[in-house]
Amino acid sequence: MANILIKDAVVVPMYESGGIRYFRGSVGIEGNTIAMVCSGDDARVEMFRARHEDNLHEIDGRGHALLPGLINTHCHTPMTLMRSYADDLPLMPWLEDHIWPFEAGMTPDDIRLGTELGVAEMLLGGTTCFLDMYFREDVIADVVDKAGMRAVLSTTIMGDNNLSFEKDLAALVERASCCGGRVTPMIACHSPYTVSSNNLLYAKRMAEKFGVGLNIHVAETREEVGIIREKFGKTPVQYLDDLGLLGPSTIAVHCVHLTDDDIRILAERNVSVSHNPQSNMKLASGISPVAKMVSAGVNVTIGTDGASSNNDLDMWEEMRSVSFLQKVTAADPCILPAWDVLGMATVNAAAALGLGDKLGQIKEGMLADLIMVDMDKPHLHPQTDVVANLVYCAKSGDVDTVLIDGNVVVDKGRLVDCDLRSLYDKVDARVEEIRTATAKRL
Ligand SMILES: [Zn+2]
Repeated sequence: MANILIKDAVVVPMYESGGIRYFRGSVGIEGNTIAMVCSGDDARVEMFRARHEDNLHEIDGRGHALLPGLINTHCHTPMTLMRSYADDLPLMPWLEDHIWPFEAGMTPDDIRLGTELGVAEMLLGGTTCFLDMYFREDVIADVVDKAGMRAVLSTTIMGDNNLSFEKDLAALVERASCCGGRVTPMIACHSPYTVSSNNLLYAKRMAEKFGVGLNIHVAETREEVGIIREKFGKTPVQYLDDLGLLGPSTIAVHCVHLTDDDIRILAERNVSVSHNPQSNMKLASGISPVAKMVSAGVNVTIGTDGASSNNDLDMWEEMRSVSFLQKVTAADPCILPAWDVLGMATVNAAAALGLGDKLGQIKEGMLADLIMVDMDKPHLHPQTDVVANLVYCAKSGDVDTVLIDGNVVVDKGRLVDCDLRSLYDKVDARVEEIRTATAKRL
């Protein structure tokens, strides 16, 4: 593995120093670790160069912003196969009449194919790590491993059946242990209304047994809140709290319909929230009280959700939506400035995944998951405020270079190790087959 020197970029390290949020500087990488971060200190750069002169790859950072890779905290990656398959429908008919029947026709090879497409999309857009909730996460781990990506993968429990769950989780844990530290296993419960109380408690026991975190869709729609209130006389957050499912290693996804008391509980239990604004907008689920949660001290992060409810895995669009949606809802343009939103997609997300000491910032000793954004575009000049340009103006296509674990996986806007033409052909042909078979069954 070569050592890498990224020279003369605009470094956005995601921490402030003396009120400075970015600076022109260089970053040196040894193996998979950030070994040097410096601003305008040519002597340190020369020392780094001299130390590694026989094994150094230099990247010219001029005209680029260098920042930590973006972290998508909620995705169902194989659902890329269902992109634009069933749109403009309410959540339950969308799931019951379209998504679940399509999924019933999917094989493990389809999960692999959909993940390859999703991983390619995420990498090209500067997402270096994602939290996935789906089935056969051992297959997803294969794709992540081969692509050189980083992920937290969660085996999902639904309904009141847990017959194969422990076996599937053990397969994921085993597969994750062979991914060079780039895959972390987790457990997912689909939601309080689709998983029985017994299985929620079972999932909690499994999380303790395997020493992994837990994520769950919570309070996504008014209907869900109504179902839980009717059944248990509580809000979904109160219900999960009473079962003991809420804690620092829990990620609650969506959290659209919350009471003030729910927000207090999430803050007190140190639960992290994955906010998915575009999915919530597209399915008309509502607007999550993100600004209120942030004020209450909840660690809020950002996810895209699956490609069938978004319909892409673009974290740049998502970041912009987080900020704009909260501003218009509160009728207050001061809410959620660009810096805070970029923090949600980096620092906050890393902390939510239990990887806050390794990811989310450009600091010496942290893992080298970095992205370079080509700032020489009409929509990114002038550079009066680089952070505002990144959050309010940048597009996924502006990402030029992506490093994960010290390896270059996207170089000058191209995936280093993927034949996209052949991937598109396979995806298109297979989706046509599944759609035809699904239509016949319905
Ligand atoms: Zn979801």
